Amino acid sequence: MEWTGGCLCGAVRYRASQAPDYARYCHCGMCRKVSGAPFTGYAEFPEGVFEWVEGEPSQYRSSEGVIRRFCSMCGSSLT
Ligand SMILES: [Zn+2]
Ligand SMILES: [Zn+2]
Repeated sequence: MEWTGGCLCGAVRYRASQAPDYARYCHCGMCRKVSGAPFTGYAEFPEGVFEWVEGEPSQYRSSEGVIRRFCSMCGSSLT
């Protein structure tokens, strides 16, 4: 099963060739700030199955070991 997605404006698209290892919500302070919402949902894929298929996200190092990627056109949070 292929998983696909992208940002609001469509400039950045991604694909994963396998199901995620897991998916969960996070309500930590940084996830609330980056989303402007009470919590965020995300999925973690096995190494090597995820790829960007259109556009290149911008990135921001929000804390030690955490790189947040987003669309520089529409601001959608991506990874
Ligand atoms: Zn976008
Ligand atoms: Zn968080």
